[in-house]
Amino acid sequence: MRAWLTCGALVALAGCHDSLDDMDGIFSRGPRRVFCAANLDTVAGSDLASIHAGLARARTRGEVIHLYAHNPGGTVPLDKLEAVLDDIDGFELPYVTYAELAAGPPTGAAVALSFDDTSVGAWYAARPLFAQHHVRATFFVSRFFAISADGRAELHQLAADGHDIEAHTINHLRAPDVVADRGLVAWRDHEALPSIDVLADDGFARPIAFAYPFGARTDETDRALLDHVAVLRSVSFSFSAPVSDPCPY
Ligand SMILES: [Zn+2]
Repeated sequence: MRAWLTCGALVALAGCHDSLDDMDGIFSRGPRRVFCAANLDTVAGSDLASIHAGLARARTRGEVIHLYAHNPGGTVPLDKLEAVLDDIDGFELPYVTYAELAAGPPTGAAVALSFDDTSVGAWYAARPLFAQHHVRATFFVSRFFAISADGRAELHQLAADGHDIEAHTINHLRAPDVVADRGLVAWRDHEALPSIDVLADDGFARPIAFAYPFGARTDETDRALLDHVAVLRSVSFSFSAPVSDPCPY
């Protein structure tokens, strides 16, 4: 059984405590188009020892480890995030963005760190922390219409700092639910592709990566998007409503 399935089965009862080094789906090596990330947020229950074991695996095997969170200082405490960044520094792991992964796999071990949704103020406030640790992260932005002009300016500053701004749907809905209700084309044309266009229209580099809200994906939604973006990111499991197959490859 894949580690994420074990994890998903346990989470409803006791939270997820699989060590990250056992979660094969969050590691990549070689060309790939669908990636899967482990959650650093408190709710995921991955402690620093587990994250350390994951980083050690990436270093030892020459893999990319995929990690994500939402709101620094909110969903993930700042001291935990800082401890993870210290640990990454200790392993001398370089960062890779999803735009870079779209161009091809790195030559050795790396960390793909992403932050999802709309917490632009918290991301911006973490700039000194990011700079101190030479972090280059990917921000998967949803509900761009709800981000203020000031927030959009902060997002542009993050892009200017070397971070990667990518798409995460318009309304942050579960893709399979929208497909069931309104059809695949409606989901693609009203939820997915416009979240790419709004960023490009606002002056960001045209997104070439897309992250699924809740990791809720299907082979059908993958196919619908991979003509439009180079890479997709899912998550290793979803807490509020587990999805059946978040890490397919
Ligand atoms: Zn999200």
